[in-house]
Parts: sequence; structure tokens; C-alpha cells
Amino acid sequence: MIKAILTGHSRGLGAAVAGALLARGIPLLALARSSNAALCTAHPDLVRETQIDLSDTQSLEAWLQTPALNDFFADADSALLINNAGLLQPVGPVGDAEAAAITRAVAVNVTAPLLLTNAFVATTRHCADRRVVHISSGAARSPYAGWSVYCATKAALDHQARSMAAEHLPGLRVASLAPGVVDTSMQAEIRASSVEQFPQKERFETLKSSGQLTAPEHAAQRLVNYLLGPNFGDVVDGDLRHLPD
Ligand code: NAP
Repeated sequence: MIKAILTGHSRGLGAAVAGALLARGIPLLALARSSNAALCTAHPDLVRETQIDLSDTQSLEAWLQTPALNDFFADADSALLINNAGLLQPVGPVGDAEAAAITRAVAVNVTAPLLLTNAFVATTRHCADRRVVHISSGAARSPYAGWSVYCATKAALDHQARSMAAEHLPGLRVASLAPGVVDTSMQAEIRASSVEQFPQKERFETLKSSGQLTAPEHAAQRLVNYLLGPNFGDVVDGDLRHLPD
């Protein structure tokens, strides 16, 4: 049986990925601060939610000490981890950020995925097939003025994936994938930045007004097809838009 753990299922890309996994009958352990009532109502037997603030590293460490992960994956022979939860803030030039905002971004975007990946790998040693995907960003690979914290955190995920892939652990594959420009609340947040905070704001406004944003459901289908397909992990740090179908 395939089972999956996903962060950030409450909205945006994560909600669409959850929907695509559940539509295939894959039981899901879903972590976010808020609930996704629609998913729980549609798939009451398949979804297990844990409401947790991933910026609170101590809470995450405490949860990882509980038997929750072991219990969930005990009867799985195939296991998936999708590190999707992420945040963009703080946006603005270096020197303008609140220290707490930098700490929060690193906790959610880097510390939580690394802790979850470590626990997932330890917990799923009995599974013949284990797959980890980090939701990265083009910002991991190209510099964006105003996004230095976000860029740094996503680059960290890419490099964690490269290093983990080099370990060739039994049954384990990993990829860190940029999803493209997806029409979620994070994009609305980008457009709400000032030009002073984010000089490329206008480019993202044009992408939205000219209908060039990808629907979350479309990106999610591509991601889940690749995640479950035979070629997963061949590209360790890729862009979802450029992967083979
Ligand atoms: P979004 O609409 O803002 O959704 C973010 C998700 O992350 C929500 O489910 C949110 O759940 C969860 N999250 C945020 N902070 C959290 C916290 N402290 N604890 C637990 N969960 C938290 O963003 P999105 O656009 O879907 O982004 C999904 C991923 O794709 C992110 O990693 C993002 O960096 C990446 N990405 C997005 C785009 C894009 O164009 N949208 C492009 C490149 C990469 P709660 O608020 O309920 O906690």
C-alpha cells in the first residue's frame, strides 16, 4: 500500500496535491496550521490531519517523538513525503527585515522539511519504495532582489536533495522541484509587495493579467504523475514544467 505525508494541504498547491493523491486512493497524513474541511469531508477515510505550526520547531520535534509517523506508515510498503508548506516573507532588501521573520522563514522552509525528511527516512526503512519531494522554486536557482531569505531557503532544499541523493539509501529517491508560477495566495502576496520591496513586482502582475499563471490543479497533476512514475528522482533539482510527462 502507498501512503503519503504532505505539508501545507490547507490551500494552494498543497491542497491540489492532496486532492490528486486522494483521488488515487492514497491515504494521507496532512500537516498545516489550518484544516481543509472540504478534503476531509470528501475523503473521511483517507485523510488524517495534524494541525501544527511548522515555524514552531519545538512543537514539530515533540510531534516527531510521538508514534504518529510510525503508526501511519506501519502497514505501508511504499511511502511518499511531500514537503510543500512554505512562506515567502520577509520580502524586501537585506537590512529591512524583522529578525523574527527571517527565523520563521528558515523554520518553515528549511528546518521543518529537514526534520520531516530525517524522520520519514528513519520511519520507512521497511518500505521497498520511498520517495521525498521538496517543493522548491526558480528562486532557488536565480537571484531575485527582495527575496534573499526565500531564495536562500529554497536553495537549501535543493542542496539537501542533491546530498541525500548522493547517499543512495535503500529504496529512497528524492527530488527538489520548482512548480512554476502557480495561481495561489502566495502569488497574490507577491503582487501586493511594493516595487521598493520587490523590483520585479510588475513582471508578476503581467503574468497574472495575461493569464500565464498555472492552475494549482494542473501543477499538482504533473507533480503527482512524476512523483508516482518510474522516472521519479532521475532529475534531482528540476522544474516541473520541463519534466517529461
Ligand atoms: P500558499 O497558497 O501560501 O500555501 C502555503 C501552504 O503552506 C498553506 O497550506 C499553509 O498552511 C502552509 N504553511 C505556511 N506556513 C505554515 C506554518 N507555519 N505551519 C504549517 N504550514 C504552513 O502557497 P503556495 O503557492 O501553495 O506554495 C506551496 C509551495 O510552493 C511553497 O513551498 C512555495 O514556496 C512553493 N512555490 C510556489 C510558487 C507559486 O507560484 N505559487 C512558485 C514557486 C514555489 P496554513 O496557513 O494552514 O498553515
